[in-house]
Amino acid sequence: MTDRRIACRECHSLYEASVQACPVCGSSRLTDDWAGCIIVAHPNQSDVAGAMDVTQPGTYALKVR
Ligand SMILES: [Zn+2]
Repeated sequence: MTDRRIACRECHSLYEASVQACPVCGSSRLTDDWAGCIIVAHPNQSDVAGAMDVTQPGTYALKVR
């Protein structure tokens, strides 16, 4: 089983490694060099989501390089 995920450097969204561009912001600046991830269910109730400017529920990478 391969479970490689890639992160968008622009909006930190996390995707299957097969995507060529970020479906959220359209950026092609994708990387597999990220440290961890958070799952945001209620962005307006999450301090971390607020700090990352996350406004939509989803999975986001942390420490994207
Ligand atoms: Zn993006």
